[in-house]
Amino acid sequence: MLLKLKRKFSSAHRLPDYDGECNNLHGHTWVVEFIIEGETKESGMVEDFKTLKPLLDSVLPDHKYLNDFVQNPTAENMVKYIYDNAAKLLTQRGLKLKQVELWENENASAIFQAY
Ligand SMILES: [Zn+2]
Repeated sequence: MLLKLKRKFSSAHRLPDYDGECNNLHGHTWVVEFIIEGETKESGMVEDFKTLKPLLDSVLPDHKYLNDFVQNPTAENMVKYIYDNAAKLLTQRGLKLKQVELWENENASAIFQAY
């Protein structure tokens, strides 16, 4: 069974190696979609969404400067950072993080999938 959760966070970053406007400090409201795999339990749920939301939010750098967390915080590098941190917490609960998709704006996203 797969669960999908959508979360949002806002943050600032700059891309130090980029030749263009993204080199300047700017912000995004990022949308993150998590796809989680697990067995449906006796309760009829894989895991309560109410439990998963704060757990996933805890790894999102909301209102932070992303360059403090990831050296070159492109959408690709950020989605990997979020995946790694969320996967650790979900593994402890017997859940597998299958995919994270990070939307930089409504038209562009980076996807990291479990291998
Ligand atoms: Zn940007």
